[in-house]
Amino acid sequence: MARNNLQISILGSTGSVGCSTLAVIDENPQYSVFALTAHKNARLLFEQCQKYTPVFAVIGVDAAAEFEVLVKESGLATKLLVGKSALVEVASSPDVDIVMAAIVGAAGLESTLAAASNGKRLLLANKESLVMTGDLLKQAATQSGAEILPIDSEHNAIFQCLPITGSSLQATDYNGIEKVVLTASGGPFLNTPLEQLASVTPEQACLHPKWSMGRKISVDSATMMNKGLEFIEACYLFDLEPSQVDVLIHPQSIVHSMVHYADGSVIAELANPDMRVPIAYGLAWPERIRSGAAVLDLAAQEPLQFSKPDLQRFPCLRLGMEAAAKRGSAPAVLNAANEVAVEAFLSGEIGFTEISLIIEAVRSKIPCEATPSLAIIQDLDRQARTLSKELILKEFCRGAGA
Ligand code: NAD
Ligand code: MG
Repeated sequence: MARNNLQISILGSTGSVGCSTLAVIDENPQYSVFALTAHKNARLLFEQCQKYTPVFAVIGVDAAAEFEVLVKESGLATKLLVGKSALVEVASSPDVDIVMAAIVGAAGLESTLAAASNGKRLLLANKESLVMTGDLLKQAATQSGAEILPIDSEHNAIFQCLPITGSSLQATDYNGIEKVVLTASGGPFLNTPLEQLASVTPEQACLHPKWSMGRKISVDSATMMNKGLEFIEACYLFDLEPSQVDVLIHPQSIVHSMVHYADGSVIAELANPDMRVPIAYGLAWPERIRSGAAVLDLAAQEPLQFSKPDLQRFPCLRLGMEAAAKRGSAPAVLNAANEVAVEAFLSGEIGFTEISLIIEAVRSKIPCEATPSLAIIQDLDRQARTLSKELILKEFCRGAGA
């Protein structure tokens, strides 16, 4: 039986994955919230603190004053911490058993690495940190005894379909595995005429047909960079060559991914598109707990369809696959350029189809380091961001929102 009173730090608790994590905890009183963190949303973080009474709350510098007033006025016992180093502190505290890494983007890197270096059960939603540091993150977990449990629904599905036994993801007798197939909904622009893509708006891009998510990952889903990042994530997590990973468009988002075996068997995981399912699995593995998700009714479900992705429509998927083949620092540069380009798209500075052009231009200007240290990755991340911003200003900027 699982231990009671497991202490969890939820990094990014005010986001989509963070809120879903708290919803799973509502169903499972054996988990205690040790720390909650948010970047700017002081009001929601405060409401979460009132409900879950964590030992610590961490807030970004800009929202600290507002949050402090709310906590003082309420007399809440939760201790307030501010800024990046505090995220690392609550991810590595000896009092913590489980860390949910649900900050979006490279901002989650240090705290995710801290959880991996300090023997925690690391629930990895923040795919960007694995994309950036790949082998380094896995090595840190192996050395400290941390368990990396993938929360991204596709990787969680693959994890469920692999013959992993014992008590660690590092245990690997992957005998007989031919390939894994990542499914992708295709996002809101799967059937949009190609000539209309240049003028789609951020609101249209964020209207995902199946999943309700934060704005950055929603745009990534619309460009299919999300699947590109997940392609890289799969190679690192499961020690796969790019030739062992396939992508299939599956608009219904019911089959979350699958594993092909040498004997012709294909094992897939099916569930309603609800992040509470992989979160519950990661929290309790190898046991099963209630997630609160609706029961899947296959008879009431529209037919399940599968098709090959169109790399002309989705150049970002191709860029992700190419970075996976290069490894080294290539995925980190791809990720940095993508983060800057997506932000520029969301603020109206550039068009949708310019996202891939910016990434491709940055990639061609920054040479790939084969075995980069963390310091080199962080330096290349900075370089790629600076270059992306310069390119946006000089070559792509529309003026709106700039
Ligand atoms: P979101 O935008 O809804 O939430 C992001 C969270 O990170 C918020 O709590 C925010 O306060 C915090 N944050 C943002 N910038 C920060 C910064 N600079 N410093 C500290 N904290 C910061 O994002 P989301 O959709 O919940 O996604 C979170 C992560 O999970 C992403 O890496 C995403 O790719 C991954 N993921 C999300 C989903 C999903 O369904 N939403 C599915 C799979 C993977
Ligand atoms: Mg996913």
